[in-house]
Amino acid sequence: MANRDKASNQLNDFKKAQTKPDVLTTGSGAPVGTKTATMTVGPRGPVLMQDFVFTDEMAHFDRERIPERVVHAKGAGAFGYFECTHDITSYCKAKPFEYTGKKTPLAARFSTVGGESGSADTARDPRGFAVKFYTEDGNWDLAGNNTPIFFIRDPMLFPNFIHTQKRNPQTHLKDPDMFWDFITLRPETTHQVSFLFSDRGTPDGYRHMDGYGSHTYKMVNKDGKPVYCKFHWKTDQGIKNLPANKAAEMAGSDPDYSIKDLYNAIAEGNYPSWSLYIQVMTFEEAERFRFNPFDLTKIWPQGEYPLIPVGKMVLNRNPKNYFAEVEQIAFSPAHMIPGIEPSPDKMLQGRLFSYSDTHRHRLGSNYLQIPVNCPYNGNVKNYQRDGPQCVNDNQAGAPNYFPNSSSGPQDDTKHMEHTTTVSGDVARYNTADEDNFSQVSTYWEKVLNPEARQRLCEDIAGHAKDAQEFIQKRIINQWTQVDPECGQTIQKLLLKYKAEEQKRRSGVTANL
Ligand code: NDP
Repeated sequence: MANRDKASNQLNDFKKAQTKPDVLTTGSGAPVGTKTATMTVGPRGPVLMQDFVFTDEMAHFDRERIPERVVHAKGAGAFGYFECTHDITSYCKAKPFEYTGKKTPLAARFSTVGGESGSADTARDPRGFAVKFYTEDGNWDLAGNNTPIFFIRDPMLFPNFIHTQKRNPQTHLKDPDMFWDFITLRPETTHQVSFLFSDRGTPDGYRHMDGYGSHTYKMVNKDGKPVYCKFHWKTDQGIKNLPANKAAEMAGSDPDYSIKDLYNAIAEGNYPSWSLYIQVMTFEEAERFRFNPFDLTKIWPQGEYPLIPVGKMVLNRNPKNYFAEVEQIAFSPAHMIPGIEPSPDKMLQGRLFSYSDTHRHRLGSNYLQIPVNCPYNGNVKNYQRDGPQCVNDNQAGAPNYFPNSSSGPQDDTKHMEHTTTVSGDVARYNTADEDNFSQVSTYWEKVLNPEARQRLCEDIAGHAKDAQEFIQKRIINQWTQVDPECGQTIQKLLLKYKAEEQKRRSGVTANL
């Protein structure tokens, strides 16, 4: 089997390691006499109720699926470590950055966003980029994307935005009207949509893309001094993207391309790595900054807030079992540790609620006891008890109420969060028009070369050609505000597609 890759050869490798089969048992551990025949009355049946070998497996099979993630359903995971290579203790007291040379075990999961768990890896879609650090202070999840920004800046819009990326409620089909209607009614989406339809919208697997914490977070040092920060993971493999036509072709011919690519690289000892950088903004700078530094549709310009090197993530172990370690892994931005705190970013605040909430639905209220989610490097001691699938000792005889006089776990003010002062009128603020274009214009002018600009317009028009004409007009208007040339190019391409479609239709009519 020399010509087969490691993923294809997995069962053969298992066989080599497991030279002799184990004794087959039921779920309750009883050895099984035969696995190929139900217990019946006579050779023609019926089957007996007492056949636990059959019912035990069948009943378990009926329950094999857990709800798939509403977003990020299709993904790949791997394990490894983070190594701190630069001292950032003046900014942050979090355990992974305690001293240079320190290694912290971690898990990472990469994913597409909109598609179902069987959808194609090469779809044009943002990619999830989530990392779980197993620290001595508990688990820290940095759950972001391969983009430093997002489509919207107020979490109220999140479920509706996601609906537009999913299926039409009647046809159960992806719907270009839904997609572009929302995008053009909420122009704060322009920046992220311009990333999505650029070359980086179809990365070549998961190893050749950057990652971002995306939100603004707060870092606190050991003296209690805070700064705001953003996290950047830069791929050490180099950026590589799939041309749009190749990505579309592979969606049919190799739909699990990214999972396979990551698995094989790690299995062959070609461990992928990413370098971690931060950008830092003081509280005073945040007050004075010319735009809202907590707006998730905007970046912090690197000329003004340079990337500060921090360390490196290396992925060197594949999951031993996909369901146990990847399907069940549960990331939440709310999983923070001392030294890392939230900023006022409204989208982050919304996610702090939503992620843990969805895991309680998907995996149950004891999802943090599942081995891959368990903060095994720390020491969980609290007053949470019982609930479905409590699989540890439920904290045995320790008191289950607080305060108590029985040596139950105690709080300690040295772990108190940083005190933040906020003031303002409680209201619902409309953020739709908070400068949706200037950074996209910079991206168009300074980041994209002429060929990349043309491809961006082609990919927008190629997708928008199926939307209604009044929506197309709004698209042209929206991207004209990025750059008049951009709007004109999209307009020309849409007219070209329309003419081609008319020609095709008249050809069809002529043939009737
Ligand atoms: P810089 O010139 O300092 O940085 C440009 C950034 O753009 C780099 O991070 C680069 O990532 C990234 N980039 C390059 N090509 C693409 C692409 N096709 N799609 C998405 N990102 C790409 O500029 P600024 O920080 O002043 O930002 C200028 C513009 O660049 C922004 O308005 C934004 O649109 C975009 N950008 C900015 C980022 C930031 O965090 N500041 C991050 C990503 C994009 P790499 O080094 O991996 O090539």
